[in-house]
Amino acid sequence: MSAAIIDGKAFAGALRARIATHAARFEQGAGRKAGLAVVLVGEDPASAVYVRSKGRQTVEAGMASFEHRLPADTDEATLLALIEQLNADPAVDGILVQLPLPAHLSEQTVIAAIDPDKDVDGFHTTNAGRLAVGQKGFVPCTPLGCLMLLKDQLGDLSGLEAVVIGRSNIVGKPMAALLLGESCTVTVAHSRTKNLPDVVRRADIVVAAVGRPLMVQGDWIKPGACVIDVGINRVEGPEGKPMLVGDVDYASGVQVAGAITPVPGGVGPMTIAVLLANTLTAAHARAGLPAPDLS
Ligand code: NAD
Repeated sequence: MSAAIIDGKAFAGALRARIATHAARFEQGAGRKAGLAVVLVGEDPASAVYVRSKGRQTVEAGMASFEHRLPADTDEATLLALIEQLNADPAVDGILVQLPLPAHLSEQTVIAAIDPDKDVDGFHTTNAGRLAVGQKGFVPCTPLGCLMLLKDQLGDLSGLEAVVIGRSNIVGKPMAALLLGESCTVTVAHSRTKNLPDVVRRADIVVAAVGRPLMVQGDWIKPGACVIDVGINRVEGPEGKPMLVGDVDYASGVQVAGAITPVPGGVGPMTIAVLLANTLTAAHARAGLPAPDLS
């Protein structure tokens, strides 16, 4: 048996097209574009690439992109003053501070300064709390993108056994909360979990968010399970060329799973698409308009 390949690139492209349609309607109705502000502190090359693609895709979706690049030695007071300014700016619906920040800045303090209703990354403790208690709020983009792929593939998730590997605040924990919200039976595995292969073997849904190249082996996967690979690991490929691989050993996993996301082209493209969706939702809420149906 060979798994169905979940095409996150195509799914994200279709989602961005729906976002563009609703963004144009929003502009007509509100008399302004929905706006996303992205703040980049320092010169981290990977972060700079992400920020560029976020800006480009924001504009392509018919929204306004405001980019703020600050030098690596920016002090906390200057960064907090910028966030205050963006919180108050009526043209800005979403604020994203690109992580990681330089070591002298506290990510916690900076995220706490963002207006929770503009926190389109869903990292503010108010939004984490809303997710935990099942209230409406912004959900971190990567796990929400994973949930969209899962629901598209499986439909109703109710009663399914889900194992999330990884307990980070940006992927593992919100993923577990989302799956619980869909009435899955959820296990969160992490670096101290004993007998991880046995834990994974009971899952109908496996979400791997670890950051360890090819860790999850095909023989850990229950036949027919749906496998979502969040991992993005840069490794040395054939002839020494760098290549990206996930946390799942795709070659063996694809033989056993019912459906699986590839890396690249699976979860990765969903993150920015969901960021745009969250920004458009924020814009509607701030303009007093009903949330757009992006499904
Ligand atoms: P993290 O380092 O914050 O968390 C990793 C988690 O894995 C930890 O909770 C840890 O307990 C767990 N872990 C570590 N070793 C383990 C082991 N041997 N067995 C079981 N669990 C173990 O990482 P993160 O930010 O959650 O990201 C995880 C991966 O997802 C990374 O590869 C990252 O690049 C990728 N990622 C991708 C996207 C995207 O696709 N857009 C977004 C975010 C993260």
